[in-house]
Amino acid sequence: MNVIPVDSWKEDMQVFQEAAKKYYAGELKRAEYKGISGKFGSYAQKGDEPKSMLRLRMPAGRLTREKMAFIAESVRKYAIDKIKFTTCQTVQLHNLGLEPVCRIMEDALKVGIVTVGGGGDFPRNTTCSPLSGIDADEYFNVMPYAEAVGQYAMQFINAEKMPRKYKIGFSSSPKNQSHATMRDLGFVARPDGKFDVYSAGGIGPNPKVGVKVGEAVEPQDILKYVRAMWVMFRAYGNYENRARARSRYMQETLGGPEKYYEAFQAKLAEVEGTDDFAFEIKEAVITKAGDGTIENRRAIAQKQPGLYSVVWHPLGGCPSPEVFCQVSDALQEIEGAEIRLALDETAYIVNLTAGEAQKFIDLTAGDSAASLFEMASACIGGSICQQGVRDSQALLRSCAEAVQKAGIPDGALPAIHISGCPGSCATPQVVPMGFRGAVKDRQSAWLLYLNGCDAQGQEVFGKEAGVILETEVPDFLVELGKKVAESGMSFAEWSKANADGVEKVAAKYF
Ligand code: SF4
Repeated sequence: MNVIPVDSWKEDMQVFQEAAKKYYAGELKRAEYKGISGKFGSYAQKGDEPKSMLRLRMPAGRLTREKMAFIAESVRKYAIDKIKFTTCQTVQLHNLGLEPVCRIMEDALKVGIVTVGGGGDFPRNTTCSPLSGIDADEYFNVMPYAEAVGQYAMQFINAEKMPRKYKIGFSSSPKNQSHATMRDLGFVARPDGKFDVYSAGGIGPNPKVGVKVGEAVEPQDILKYVRAMWVMFRAYGNYENRARARSRYMQETLGGPEKYYEAFQAKLAEVEGTDDFAFEIKEAVITKAGDGTIENRRAIAQKQPGLYSVVWHPLGGCPSPEVFCQVSDALQEIEGAEIRLALDETAYIVNLTAGEAQKFIDLTAGDSAASLFEMASACIGGSICQQGVRDSQALLRSCAEAVQKAGIPDGALPAIHISGCPGSCATPQVVPMGFRGAVKDRQSAWLLYLNGCDAQGQEVFGKEAGVILETEVPDFLVELGKKVAESGMSFAEWSKANADGVEKVAAKYF
């Protein structure tokens, strides 16, 4: 496999720097700037004053100590006030001026962080089950394969243009936390150490589960599938209409899943021998030993005896910059520790002894979800994102405040997912309860999705139950939480026993 040297991206960045200078000087319109900056993982934010977001790709969601230290140093140096763990397992830095955005982008290369391809119609960050290699329930560790594919796909950035972005995911168990069955291309681990491969799936408008295009694929053959998908996308993708350009529309274009399968097999045969598909994996070996046990709802026992992962889920995936830096400092001292980012905006601090786990639980105590409800996922939303119709972060804050004030007990409400527009970055369609930005009576409102599921083989895109005014969403959740709490059951148990229970409570708000 040919690997593009990380520091070679520095040369490309001159294009970004020129455009950024013009944008900040008011000489380049936001829309034109977006066409250039997206390739480099940066977008101008909403608002009159020029400010930027920079997306730091973390292949397979792996944030090493070195990368963490670099980000923390940048946060301190440029007094960065907003950090976001994203739904594609990256770290976004917000509200950046011209110098920070240019400098951080370039300096990040020194620690192996490449922002190029972080936006635009390029191969995006490869996603992966966050606890790969440490999850007791997994079939096998898929992370090294996800990292190899992440490296391989970088060659498509400066190759022929694709119709839209290309997202690849790896899943290590049927939990399907990386939504591998619903990506442009997804590799799903099997008990026999091989992969099933899904193609042309996606969440958002016209959601689709991918077509299974490979069964029991040998791990050494996966790069062929990555290339075949790239060839497929360029051959049958829609270059004319961006609204129908994501790969999932190709299922219809080609006449349905069976025809899509046949077309994919043809491309698979076509790419045979066209590239060097051989690669070696580097699996991190964890030799560390534990020092005792810990019982805490935020500590997850790893498959390595005596080691734990700590759940750190800041509200809306936005950690306090101060806590972020403290976690980074503490992490530097700990052998084998690193952070794994999840699609639901959780950061897992992994490979910890019981004593170390307690230390991180204490350190992040004021910056992590205190209940299942606060494990909610919310995209950055319309106050910052140019596509956004509604402010997901503000909705989550007002709901969390109302739920806390009403004393709703933990477990009575689910972890909701909130997306500010149909782009559905926070995947509201594949969770038990999700919200998507909408309009009702010319007022800010949210479309309620119910009963979605992302587990492999049980994928369901949630029902569009109705639209609720933004001002009434917290009231609806409080009323629902009280009703569930009265039953003495958890939300999962209650909604199973009351199939249309949520809709009945929601009805008066529609
Ligand atoms: S869901 Fe929409 S508003 Fe939210 S981050 Fe994605 S594109 Fe922006």
